[in-house]
Amino acid sequence: MADFKIPNPISSLQSAICNSADAVLSVLLAPSCAACEVLLEHPTSGPVCPSCWASILPLTPPLCDQCGDPLPAWRAISVPIARCPRCRRTTRFVDRARAIGAYDGALRAIVHALKYEGRRSLARPLARLMRRRGADVLDGAACVVPVPLHPSRRRQRGFNQATDLARRLYLPVVPALRRVRATTTQTDLPAAQRHRNVRDAFARTRSAQTLEGLVVVLVDDVSTTGATLEACARVLKEGGVREVRALTAARVVGRLMSDTRSW
Ligand SMILES: [Zn+2]
Ligand SMILES: [Zn+2]
Repeated sequence: MADFKIPNPISSLQSAICNSADAVLSVLLAPSCAACEVLLEHPTSGPVCPSCWASILPLTPPLCDQCGDPLPAWRAISVPIARCPRCRRTTRFVDRARAIGAYDGALRAIVHALKYEGRRSLARPLARLMRRRGADVLDGAACVVPVPLHPSRRRQRGFNQATDLARRLYLPVVPALRRVRATTTQTDLPAAQRHRNVRDAFARTRSAQTLEGLVVVLVDDVSTTGATLEACARVLKEGGVREVRALTAARVVGRLMSDTRSW
């Protein structure tokens, strides 16, 4: 006997509506992928095409246990706790940092579209990937703390992309930090100056008092040298936070350093 399936009238109707909406939107607006600019076949599924999402690869292990930078393969075998030279050399306030992948290709274009073109709907699928690839960072944490923008920049942009991402990580969002000094954009600064640039740029808000003794996760769109995250983590630890982890959408690795913005 033939396998006979009764169609679900509601889901059939939903997909019929989506297909019709896709067809109408494709013809009228011809929207293109925010990352690769190819014409979108299903605009109702979001502003980025499926092949761009599929192209975002995780950073290749072994990774530095602390900052998340890729390490040469031999290090994971020869050292019990794998840490990069930078993390071994200096005191780090961020205990563990992870990202979806390298700030390159489609991921870079998607973060750019979220931040500079106001495509805020991209925060949801980005956060989904952050939850998946940063599961160990989120595990056991009490809350997430978005890296704040200076009020003037926040006004100019109309939103803080870090808050948009943090809201979708399924943990309480605590605005424990504020930016007290407007900093020069990190884009053109060499690594050493980036740390100086963000030093003392952050302060704790009143809600930071509730975080004493807890494990918290800082959230931002991109980690460039980690200078911003370090400055935030230091302020939180001075306020009694036990452990500060960091989860970003993207992370700048190696050769990409000269060509990025940190916010
Ligand atoms: Zn695309
Ligand atoms: Zn490291």
